[in-house]
Amino acid sequence: MGNTLANSLITTSLTASLLLSGCSGTGNFSSKGVSPRGGFTGANHYNYASYYQGGQQTRVAPARAYQSVPVSAPAPIVPRKSPLALLAEVRVHKDYLPKSARGRRGQSSMRPRYITIHSTQNWSKGADPWRHSLALKRSKLGSLSWHYTTDQNVAVQHLPTNVTGRHADLNGPGNKYSIGIEMCEHRGNSRIRTIDRTAKLAAYLMYKYSIPLSKVVPHYHWPRYGMNPPHKNCPHFLLDNGKPGRKWRGFQAKVKYYHDLITTQGPSYVSR
Ligand SMILES: [Zn+2]
Repeated sequence: MGNTLANSLITTSLTASLLLSGCSGTGNFSSKGVSPRGGFTGANHYNYASYYQGGQQTRVAPARAYQSVPVSAPAPIVPRKSPLALLAEVRVHKDYLPKSARGRRGQSSMRPRYITIHSTQNWSKGADPWRHSLALKRSKLGSLSWHYTTDQNVAVQHLPTNVTGRHADLNGPGNKYSIGIEMCEHRGNSRIRTIDRTAKLAAYLMYKYSIPLSKVVPHYHWPRYGMNPPHKNCPHFLLDNGKPGRKWRGFQAKVKYYHDLITTQGPSYVSR
């Protein structure tokens, strides 16, 4: 009898101290006479309900009394130009290769991580994006394929951006994970305007696929193992002595400028 009373007093005292200290109940309750169940049965002094499952206590989150208090959200970023307005300036025309074309054989699905910039090195008259599109559709370029061709007037899209092309590095990551853009070089085509259109397209694709500027790369970036030289001088007019340098940095700055336009806060919102 005396023992039972002593245990009862210990239990009561420990229970009280546990309740006061706000212990979560997940500690060690193995002390003689102090079972977790005994300690907390019917005790709902907290804002949460305690219950046990298979000997383990689970704590349920307290009801949030402050839920009705209005919380002011941060002001949304209003870019200087909407991404779709920038895309409209690129003037993309879809002209996909049929699935039977050689350029689409063996291709796989892709989540783009890079954007690879090329130039066609095709100086023949009329070798514009439409002419390249026709050649790709008719399998005139072997198994080659890429996603867009740009010139001073348009960007023609040859492949959806969620499938791989074959334009960079045989079976390497350039082909597996990058969107390929070819810039035209045919006679009479403005190089400056072509570069400008390409920079806008790259900026939009960066925005769409969360690709950082460091992953907008020249074809040069991807070594073609087994080929000599492994690093191609492409796009040649954006490289210095066959390597990324001042001209490539200039192109990067242009891409960044357009990307900033559609992603950072500005004084006015221009939409079309
Ligand atoms: Zn190239």
